[in-house]
Amino acid sequence: MAGKDYYEVLGVSKDASQAEIRKAYRQLSKKYHPDINKAPGAEEKFKEITEAYEVLSDEQKRSNYDQYGSADGPQGFGGAGAGGAGGFGGFGDAGGFGGGGFEDIFSQFFGGGGGGRRRNPNAPQPGRDLQYEMTLTFEEAIFGKKTKIKYNRQAQCHTCHGSGAKPGTSPETCHNCGGSGYVTTETNTPLGRMRSQQVCPVCHGTGKEIKEKCPTCGGSGHEEERHEVEVNIPAGVDDGQQMRLQNQGEAGENGGPYGDLFILFNVKPSKVFKRDGADIYLDKDISFAQAALGDEIKVQTVHGDVNLKIPAGTQTGSVFRLKGKGAPRLRGNGNGDQRVTVKITTPKNLNKDQKMALKAFAEASGEKVGNGKGHFFDKMKDAFDN
Ligand SMILES: [Zn+2]
Ligand SMILES: [Zn+2]
Repeated sequence: MAGKDYYEVLGVSKDASQAEIRKAYRQLSKKYHPDINKAPGAEEKFKEITEAYEVLSDEQKRSNYDQYGSADGPQGFGGAGAGGAGGFGGFGDAGGFGGGGFEDIFSQFFGGGGGGRRRNPNAPQPGRDLQYEMTLTFEEAIFGKKTKIKYNRQAQCHTCHGSGAKPGTSPETCHNCGGSGYVTTETNTPLGRMRSQQVCPVCHGTGKEIKEKCPTCGGSGHEEERHEVEVNIPAGVDDGQQMRLQNQGEAGENGGPYGDLFILFNVKPSKVFKRDGADIYLDKDISFAQAALGDEIKVQTVHGDVNLKIPAGTQTGSVFRLKGKGAPRLRGNGNGDQRVTVKITTPKNLNKDQKMALKAFAEASGEKVGNGKGHFFDKMKDAFDN
């Protein structure tokens, strides 16, 4: 519906509150719902209303729409989930968890005992998405891993293939409602006869009745399954990210597709390294002499030890970059870096020779150290003598 103004469709102002948007949507969708309003164009209008509501009721989509005229934001911006090798998408926060804002509000006014789903109950519906939490070591997250996971899910019944009917039979039109899924009841009240429509209690709105139920699933069309799936975790995933495996969720209804499985990664910290995105951080102690004179030292990285040149005159807190020694970037583009922060350690428990050498050093530097009371070396000496 390009060109339609969502605010106009719902008849609300640009600064309408969520409550106002919800109210407008409720009124309009009652008026135009195709089960109620059979006028030509009503269904189209209902779709427009629903689309407008889905965007304006979601603050992120609404802000994109306000800014860019599209719920997806600027082009090429909202591409999580699209592309990416092996269907790896949807980083960051969960999102997309069947969070049925629409269904919720819908059931509020068509609700009532019988689970008032008023959309065609025989339409294919995708199955539920599932989430699986996976703990990875620091190194597994960096280098990726191939593994198998097992979990329980509702799968399509292998006997009836989801129909719920005993093999050789098929669901029949419901005798109670004649296939409409609804029954009209009339009751006498002091004000006269009241007619009300309810979901058919026999077929629960499907309009179909299974006379001979499938012996495996008892008519539900689903059966619990211990499902195993191989997961190829790409190198470079990070704590809190998730990976989507299409169709590894639960079986759909009426021939709808399986839902998806979201694997949420929980990455254990390392005792040695810290990580921020693709960059890895390490603190490294060096001696005063190494810092002053310069040296070449061995530094641990996740890719193995490497040599690092410490130039003469290095100060404590200096940071050295080891290019490409970080974690892989998820979407290609090589590795991040490792940053090494050197910390100069002050020597402790000096022996006599060391003290002499340091005194000589101080003197050579023109410092007056240890010649009078209260000087640095006297204090140090006192401390050692204790
Ligand atoms: Zn079955
Ligand atoms: Zn029925």
